[in-house]
Amino acid sequence: MKDLRHLSVEDITNLVISSNEKKFRVAQIQDWIWKKNVGSIDEMSNLSKGFREKLNQEYVINKVKVDHEQFSTDGTVKSRFQLHDGHFIEGVLIPTEKRMTACVSSQVGCSLSCKFCATGYIDRKRNVTFDEIYDQVSLINEQAIKHFDKPLTNIVFMGMGEPLLNFNHVFKSLEFINADYGMGMSPRRVTVSTAGIAKMITKMADVNPNVRLALSLHAASEKKRNEIMPINETNNLDALIEALDYYFKKTKNPVTFEYILFSNFNDSTADADDLIKICRRIPSKVNIIEYNPISNAQFVKPDEQRTDAFMDYLGQHNINARLRRSRGKDIDAACGQLANVNH
Ligand code: SF4
Repeated sequence: MKDLRHLSVEDITNLVISSNEKKFRVAQIQDWIWKKNVGSIDEMSNLSKGFREKLNQEYVINKVKVDHEQFSTDGTVKSRFQLHDGHFIEGVLIPTEKRMTACVSSQVGCSLSCKFCATGYIDRKRNVTFDEIYDQVSLINEQAIKHFDKPLTNIVFMGMGEPLLNFNHVFKSLEFINADYGMGMSPRRVTVSTAGIAKMITKMADVNPNVRLALSLHAASEKKRNEIMPINETNNLDALIEALDYYFKKTKNPVTFEYILFSNFNDSTADADDLIKICRRIPSKVNIIEYNPISNAQFVKPDEQRTDAFMDYLGQHNINARLRRSRGKDIDAACGQLANVNH
């Protein structure tokens, strides 16, 4: 049966009219499926019983379910979500003093096989649909209100999968996240993080959804990036910088470079010089991220001294860089650790 949420407003309008229902039912249905985010047609209590029965004969609502929750000592909540066809994805609520951030997944598994990422060791099974992305955001928002008494302020597409390889569903989910009958959240509070698909960055520039763009750089020379991110072999740094240049010219939005520090791999002064060169070519800021070990990979987190030296060096060269301490490490909810194999 078809998911009711896959109908457009026009489809719902036609359905309402052909069922001899009043036109205001359209807004009521929209409100139930998005703002109230119900999991069944039976919950739509202001529709007549007869209309609900009719809808039940043809439609379902395949709402994502929270299958398992883990709570970190730092407040981070990791959820394993079950999709209607039995697949699992993960999402994380990251509470800080100023923000309530939802980190959501865009694919079941990932095809890009980054060497430092737990998801990269799981084959991509399928894309996450726009309504499933919306559900993750809505369910994490419920957790934020329940545990912290505050609604979500930000959304990051940094969970499982490469969002720009699920372009249509990711940006369609934002329509509902932004809509008044949905979450009512501004796109400026949404960050899409990509491992670097040049032609999709160009497409994003043309569409200009007004979200923030982050690029997972993690190594600033072609040789080193090829070693840890196989996608760099077909989308190398030159191609990415060209796409980012186009993106900036079109949108006037700077990019954020994400750079995980790996001990004795990308944390030397020479590595910092490579990073500085890239930053000089593109209006940007840099998030330096603490590495969180995963069982499959051999990387090690640098010690504090080396991390501080790297940060100081960037500072001396006037690079706008911030060190991001990882959250939720004790429950494998930190950056690169999502793989839903840990329960
Ligand atoms: S870092 Fe992102 S793109 Fe790379 S394997 Fe992990 S989920 Fe995929």
